[in-house]
Amino acid sequence: MSRLAFQYATVHGDKSAQAFRVKKAFIRHGLSMMIMAPVTTHLKDTKYDYLIREEENLFLTMKKQFPNLSLLVIDDAHLLSAKQVDQLLQVAITLHIAVLCYGLRTDFRTSGFEGARRLLELSQVLLKIPTFCECGREALFSVRKENGKTTFQGSQIMDSDMVTYQALCPNCYYRKLLQFKKLRESGRI
Ligand SMILES: [Zn+2]
Repeated sequence: MSRLAFQYATVHGDKSAQAFRVKKAFIRHGLSMMIMAPVTTHLKDTKYDYLIREEENLFLTMKKQFPNLSLLVIDDAHLLSAKQVDQLLQVAITLHIAVLCYGLRTDFRTSGFEGARRLLELSQVLLKIPTFCECGREALFSVRKENGKTTFQGSQIMDSDMVTYQALCPNCYYRKLLQFKKLRESGRI
């Protein structure tokens, strides 16, 4: 039986780069593998072998189109639906394709992404990729910046050039949240 694995991190966890390093190594050894990503934030991205549509049944896709792969790597796997993660476990069990997912655990408000939550529940292998806060502690959360200013407002997924993210430890995250609330109460934002 092949396994479903989830390697998770905050932003700047170097996840995509790792995914592509795995691809290089596999190809060098003559093994068949593909790297996919949800279309959600990668509409114009051409570096992936395949973009996953929102309602796509990943088990059927793999069974019909790519049944002979050794490894399936998925980048930004936190953006998958819970259903699609269930389908990936079936891909590992039934089609004997190892599935390696990279993604974020939580969003900028510390809530789990749907796909990440299901991956934490179902994966046989879980691995945290460590990232670090500006204060030197290990980062746990990702905070959002809009036009360079920290914000705790907005939708879970925002694909905009104005939006960036920063990895923070819990201490720094809650300090910034408190500052943000004070600014909001005083009407300055
Ligand atoms: Zn910190």
